[in-house]
Amino acid sequence: MKKLIKNFLLFFLVFLIVAGIFSSLAGDDKKPAIVGIEALISQINADAVSEIVVTGDKIAVTLKDNQTETILKEPSESLSTLLSNFKVEPAKLAAVKISVKEPSGWDYWLVNILPIVLPLLLIGGFLFFMLRGVQGANSRAMSFGQNIGKDFKPDEKHRATFKDVAGAKEAKEELKEIVEFLKFPKKFHELGAKIPRGVLLLGAPGTGKTLLARSVAGEAQVPFFHMSGSEFVEMFVGVGASRVRSLFEKAKKSAPCIIFIDEIDAVGRKRGSGMGGSHDEREQTLNQILVEMDGFEATQNIIVVAATNRPDVLDPALLRPGRFDRRVTIDLPDLKDREAILIVHSQKKPLAKDANLRVIAERTSGFSGADLANILNEAAILAARNNQKEIRNEDLFEAIEKVMIGPERRSRVITDKEKKITAYHEAGHALVAHFLPDADPVHKISIISRGNAGGYTLKVPSEDRHMHAKSEFISEIAVLLAGHLVEKTIFGEVTTGATSDLRRATAVARSLVTDYGMSDNLGPRTYGEKEEMIFLGREIHEQRDYSEKVAEKIDEEISGFMAQGEAKASAIINKEKASLEKIVAVLMAKETIEKEEFESIVGPKPAL
Ligand code: ADP
Ligand code: MG
Ligand code: ZN
Repeated sequence: MKKLIKNFLLFFLVFLIVAGIFSSLAGDDKKPAIVGIEALISQINADAVSEIVVTGDKIAVTLKDNQTETILKEPSESLSTLLSNFKVEPAKLAAVKISVKEPSGWDYWLVNILPIVLPLLLIGGFLFFMLRGVQGANSRAMSFGQNIGKDFKPDEKHRATFKDVAGAKEAKEELKEIVEFLKFPKKFHELGAKIPRGVLLLGAPGTGKTLLARSVAGEAQVPFFHMSGSEFVEMFVGVGASRVRSLFEKAKKSAPCIIFIDEIDAVGRKRGSGMGGSHDEREQTLNQILVEMDGFEATQNIIVVAATNRPDVLDPALLRPGRFDRRVTIDLPDLKDREAILIVHSQKKPLAKDANLRVIAERTSGFSGADLANILNEAAILAARNNQKEIRNEDLFEAIEKVMIGPERRSRVITDKEKKITAYHEAGHALVAHFLPDADPVHKISIISRGNAGGYTLKVPSEDRHMHAKSEFISEIAVLLAGHLVEKTIFGEVTTGATSDLRRATAVARSLVTDYGMSDNLGPRTYGEKEEMIFLGREIHEQRDYSEKVAEKIDEEISGFMAQGEAKASAIINKEKASLEKIVAVLMAKETIEKEEFESIVGPKPAL
């Protein structure tokens, strides 16, 4: 389209120039005076004319005093008839030299041919250029199999080394081996060792998989080819495969190097189980990757690093020996690593003296490296918006809440009644969380709306845990139901504010029965085969592997667990009514309560 416009402009310019030349040629050089035929007659009668030259329909007159003039006549009328019509004295006319000339080539052309030819030329030229442009686009569309204009170049911009990756000690240990392979391949070849072809990085989103892959390339100082799995998948079948081919071709030319395929689950899903249009394409692309990896010479020194957060959906063919047989798992950072990541990302940010990254790390259990980097960034933005020179601890706390729940929405109008309901609701969550020893301790209660939440109770696990017992889940259900329960006991009815609490509590109870085998009545087994299907977006489809009768029992069990949670919560709420009122009073006055003040009201959290 751009090209078309450019062509058009070019043509317009040419047109202007030609028109300019044309008009300057058409005008006579000496610019003789143009007079009427009557003037010529009277001049002839007055004996003032020395010569008349007729060229086409132009009559050039030279006077005796060497002045010139031009007369235009009708093309069909000859000069002699004209003159005789006007009754010129024959004697006087005889004294005038009259000659008739053929119209000169140029004039004739310009006047007669050009007005016809020029528009034709313009239209023809315009069409020509337009067609050529369209053809170009067409032939581009037709040649998509070749390369799709994607020129695979090693990524030089985002160099990283292991120093940029905080924590992730085990992962780095494993990857150091890969760096060795790339740096000193000979050492291994001499002993007949085969260098691994593929490394699969597994980990939750934002745990630093991409960063680690880059840093391997950076440490080994080899080119890094970056490609995202979704880039392979296109509308047309065969595009992905040909992209894979050209990527590997380019890489082979710059070996030793790393090919990084990010989000490989986009192409590497189990074959033969999908629905929807892009399925064939994925299969072909995946096959091509496998073929290329098998085709490596042992001495080629290309290592394919792939990353995914869904190892469970990967095709087993990807994982067999000779392909991605090395697997490196990257966990969410623990307390120590979180602090280290915060330190790495605060390097270029001026922190105030009161900023304590350790405390921030303690408050961010379950956060990924990317979340932590985001917190520091949000804090810096907050500080800049307040025209501060440094980032204070307060900004960091605010950033945590913003990242966890959403931005504060102080402008949202709430009535006093709504505010009161929210205060009771949140106080209920906080109270139950506090008095259940195995629930996470409360750090903050707020009734300022944030994101989608009307208010929120910030609970942070005191330590990083990977396993959970049944009683903890029941406590979680109790805490989730507490808001709903308090609303019911105080106001006699509940609001829609408790909807998401109920949904989450039900989901926990369902998992207890169907995933964790924690129901005594239904026994230690799972119910339902969860299968992810891609059809019109992402959708989890559950396949029932149990009977209608069991489904009924599952529902009963879920209700049972919910009732247990509710009983736990209501016992605490009934016992701590006085504390509840106190907390609500503070919330109504100040809108937020921090941990210290909260514990001064309710006392220290009971130990396990
Ligand atoms: P993934 O590919 O696992 O989704 P990324 O590698 O893209 O995650 O990480 C996103 C960002 O998070 C990185 O650019 C980096 O700023 C930050 N990050 C994640 N993990 C770490 C870490 N261990 N050390 C330092 N920064 C990290
Ligand atoms: Mg990534
Ligand atoms: Zn709630």
